[in-house]
Amino acid sequence: MLKKIIDALTGKSNDKPAPAQNAPSAPQARTAPKGGGAGKTADGKPAIHPAIDGGITPGSDNFSGGVLTCKCSNKPVKVRVGAQTAHNHACGCSKCWKPEGARFSLVAVVSRDAVTVEENEDKLHIVDSSAAIQRHACKECGTHMYGRIEDTSHPFHGLDFVHTELSSDTGWSEPQFAAFVSSIIETGEKPENMDAVRGRLKELGLTPYDVLAPPLMDAISTHKAKATGALPA
Ligand SMILES: [Zn+2]
Ligand SMILES: [Zn+2]
Repeated sequence: MLKKIIDALTGKSNDKPAPAQNAPSAPQARTAPKGGGAGKTADGKPAIHPAIDGGITPGSDNFSGGVLTCKCSNKPVKVRVGAQTAHNHACGCSKCWKPEGARFSLVAVVSRDAVTVEENEDKLHIVDSSAAIQRHACKECGTHMYGRIEDTSHPFHGLDFVHTELSSDTGWSEPQFAAFVSSIIETGEKPENMDAVRGRLKELGLTPYDVLAPPLMDAISTHKAKATGALPA
């Protein structure tokens, strides 16, 4: 079960690369050049993500949501997220959407009840319907608008995965840790760069983990223990 969840989150549940991420029509979905990895910031540090390379702005306690917009200049998809997000983090897996020049994606969760597509829903498609997280992406620009778990037995069922950088609203919860850090090697990062990347993440205040942060790992194991009877349900 745990392996299934980890595999699903890292995209290893499927041998095929995600079609929308590799399609020529989705130039923004894939950034790391093969065998290369992303670049450096102006001061020579490994670039993590353009939204945080200059430092992290804390979220606001009384923030209550906003609208995510895809990258299309014509008829963009708009998704309302009507609540503050949680567990925002930098993710190094190969499946999460990230913008041009980013080594990591920034991804957070929110209750699925808070997520509604407001405009141009017909442009959305599911990147990989066999994955545990069904990532709903714009067919034209490749941007992932929300990821949804339909498996009711999944520990994270009820939560949608969203990229709050797609919103012009300010106050979203800030990234708090980095997950699946070693996985960036799988999309072309040089292993010898990893010390510098982990050092930069720590400098930004993002503790690097090679799977998920302990509270999420504990939630997964608790879910599993309740399912097997090792802990009372
Ligand atoms: Zn689009
Ligand atoms: Zn990811």
